[in-house]
Amino acid sequence: MDISVVIPLLNEDESLQELHDWIAKVMQSNRYTYELIFIDDGSTDRSWNMIEKLSQENEAVKGIRFQKNFGKSQALDAGFELAQGDVVITMDADLQDNPDEIPELYDLIIKEDFDLISGWKKKRYDNLITKNIPSKLFNAAARRTSGLKLHDFNCGLKAYKNIVVKTVKVSGEMHRYIPVLAKNEGFTKIGEKIVQHQARKYGVTKFGMERFVNGFLDLITISFLSKFGKRPMHFFGLWGTFMFLFGTISAFYIGAVKLYKLYKGSSTILVTENPWFYIALTAMILGTLLFLSGFIGELIIKSKDTIKHYRIKEKLNF
Ligand code: UDP
Ligand code: MG
Repeated sequence: MDISVVIPLLNEDESLQELHDWIAKVMQSNRYTYELIFIDDGSTDRSWNMIEKLSQENEAVKGIRFQKNFGKSQALDAGFELAQGDVVITMDADLQDNPDEIPELYDLIIKEDFDLISGWKKKRYDNLITKNIPSKLFNAAARRTSGLKLHDFNCGLKAYKNIVVKTVKVSGEMHRYIPVLAKNEGFTKIGEKIVQHQARKYGVTKFGMERFVNGFLDLITISFLSKFGKRPMHFFGLWGTFMFLFGTISAFYIGAVKLYKLYKGSSTILVTENPWFYIALTAMILGTLLFLSGFIGELIIKSKDTIKHYRIKEKLNF
């Protein structure tokens, strides 16, 4: 199969027919073999009915329905797990992304051998204050911490080699950083393509301003994870050991000085009146805590492999 189109959606019933027809038209005119995977992320409108209807009319349409709203990242992850196409293309369901981009994205992956192509909405049709400006800041921060020179990390329209989506695990709200996750797994041929963007035609945005707060926190997590996520002991263990040694040596030194002064008969203060004593004590406690965090981290990594963070209610056509 040439292409899997993966579309996460939450309450987008008004767009689905139009989106389906458009994608189907592009696929047919380019003679691609394809599947169209809709992931209904706990919609409360008629989205799932629409997906059922579309799948009756077109056997390329497949559906996954979540038990409740688990989030876009989880929806993408579920779609990725089942996608069979050589090229996997993700797209938002709200008609903001343009299906006419599909052939060029496909060629970039197949002919130019890119692992991942991220869309860049150079000309955006979203609210300037609530979206465009915060998103510029956000992308600048993401570029700095990840070292990936992309302009638009959060663009819903992206294309991947199949192996990339099978390797990357999108959890939490990490859908904003899939290129970074891919880079961390060793897929380094990551490119960018300027894509057409439209204003939302139906419905409303599903993310509020909290996206930016969460986005920045996730950015810290991800840059930390990419450095130490698979080896927490190398961070916590190292600093824990340093602090503990610093504390212990200082404590010994304080004790030794005290004993020496006693022995000499010179006047001394109580050890507990020496500020260094408290610094040494704190360093020892912090050092132990850091070391333990690293150790617990290692234990968690050893045991977590199989945990899933979503539950699928039903599947269609699989
Ligand atoms: N979406 C989803 N689960 C969610 C929130 C959003 O599947 O919890 C889908 C949504 O239906 C749309 C895509 O993710 O297809 C992008 O969402 P939206 O258009 O609201 O984001 P924006 O364009 O405002 O960044
Ligand atoms: Mg949108």
